[in-house]
Amino acid sequence: MPYIYNSEGGELFFNDVKTEKLGGGDDYGGICKFCQSETKTISYHKFYKNYLIVVKCGGCDKIFLEEYNEDWRWIKDEDILLKEDLKKAITDEKGLLENVDTEALNLIFSKGELDALCSYMRGDDYSSANLSRAKKKIPRLERLFNVRIKI
Ligand SMILES: [Zn+2]
Repeated sequence: MPYIYNSEGGELFFNDVKTEKLGGGDDYGGICKFCQSETKTISYHKFYKNYLIVVKCGGCDKIFLEEYNEDWRWIKDEDILLKEDLKKAITDEKGLLENVDTEALNLIFSKGELDALCSYMRGDDYSSANLSRAKKKIPRLERLFNVRIKI
């Protein structure tokens, strides 16, 4: 799930590359793949040749992505991760150690790096190579999600 969406600013990232925003939307967005209710478009984006439309379901409230090719032929639906969910997970009182959205952090860190980071914060043994790689990625995490991590 490499797509991350900031619904406040309507910014869509693929990995950490920001896609070009074409505009907002409030149009019919098709049928929800989860609950079959109608969805509405939230914003339109372009990434290389393809169009990406972020839609929100009126039934289950899920936000996901529809990908179209340059001729507006549907290619696939994609899950997206909401930036605010990730931010909440990271800034949770217990920080990186508990209640963490592991799936989200896995976008940034490898398993070994995440293990090292968590072990370090718990005071357990850790791989220093993995920890130093993880530490180098923290600015990226902070930049992308506008959070501060204290380690
Ligand atoms: Zn739905």
